[in-house]
Amino acid sequence: MPLDLSRRRIAARTAFGGAARGKASQDAIAGLKVSHILVPFPQAISDAKVLTGRQKPLDSVDILLVEAVSEAGQTGLGYGYTLRNGGAAQFALAAEIAPALIGEDPNDIDRLWEKLRWQVNSLGRGGLGPQVIAAFDTALWDMKAKRAGLPLAKLFGAHRDTVRIYNSDGQYLQASVDEMKAAADTSLASGIGGIKMKVGQPDGMIDLRRIDAMRSHLPDDIPLMIDANQQWDRAYALQFGRIVDDMGLGFIEEPLDALDFEGHAMLADNLATPIATGEMLTSTAEAFDLIRKGGCDICQTDAPRIGGVTPFLKVMAMAEACRVDLAPHWMMELQIHLAAAYPEETWVEHFHMLEPLFNERLDIENGRVAVPDRPGLGLSITGQGRDWTRNTVSVGNTHGI
Ligand SMILES: [Mg+2]
Repeated sequence: MPLDLSRRRIAARTAFGGAARGKASQDAIAGLKVSHILVPFPQAISDAKVLTGRQKPLDSVDILLVEAVSEAGQTGLGYGYTLRNGGAAQFALAAEIAPALIGEDPNDIDRLWEKLRWQVNSLGRGGLGPQVIAAFDTALWDMKAKRAGLPLAKLFGAHRDTVRIYNSDGQYLQASVDEMKAAADTSLASGIGGIKMKVGQPDGMIDLRRIDAMRSHLPDDIPLMIDANQQWDRAYALQFGRIVDDMGLGFIEEPLDALDFEGHAMLADNLATPIATGEMLTSTAEAFDLIRKGGCDICQTDAPRIGGVTPFLKVMAMAEACRVDLAPHWMMELQIHLAAAYPEETWVEHFHMLEPLFNERLDIENGRVAVPDRPGLGLSITGQGRDWTRNTVSVGNTHGI
């Protein structure tokens, strides 16, 4: 039977995204400078992925830096990163999609995230695309906070002006127990409030002895955490977790493959020790799925990996709704602003590797790090960081930034 089309049978669809410019538009993005910077480490580090032969020791980090300037002269700085491989690919993709932002109102960050993600739609919803978008997204948030004259945490609505901070300095698998103790003493003397050690030795007894030695060495009020970097299977992780379950560890990080949400949920159900994971996830869909399945007591979303500040804020809302704690992964200079804006007490992870890149230093004492009082991220790039630049491209009118 033919369709009756004598009258309207279905709604008319409007274009996605609405009008890009209107009375409310405040400014326009004039230019963008994209740079690939390779930051070397003073010493290569190894975690369980090296012992299982899956990766080589880590000796540098590739930074994707985005510097934005608006027609009104506002500036913004954002960055993403990759480890071991992919830095050149991130830079190439960023150079391709940067022109899509020229002329846009830099305040419309959520819409611009969507615009960029459709530029990279064919690459998938996770992986390379969001990690490149992250650098642009963070630059726009930095610009917005600078325009407001506020530290980024204050723009979000901060819950605290200091955040607990822990580190893993000297706690990698190549270190002896004596070296780990000495490194922990140095960390605590510098104001660090918790220690995380790597586990995943081929002989689990070695891990247990090292944990026992470190727990005995640290003051009772200093939390000790362990990180298996995805190298255990479900049965082993449960067995190991039960042995250490009465030690009061702060958390067990990434015991299983990063995408084994059900396995992490099984461990969370069966162990008193909190399960922490989420650093490898590169889409909000993955992070929502992890939280929805009960796969973490502590969500470790990494803002540059998941696509920047905008998707991170969405994961924070999901984590809050599900009563999950938060301990953002790496990139402390950025994540401190996000951690300060979460209702429950959080951790940030201290890494010194990016310090040569930035002129500014974080204030750390009594186990906590202070949210910087400078507008935006409160960061600027050192001359050394400029010298480490491998490649740069500018689009639009960058006004000499
Ligand atoms: Mg980790």
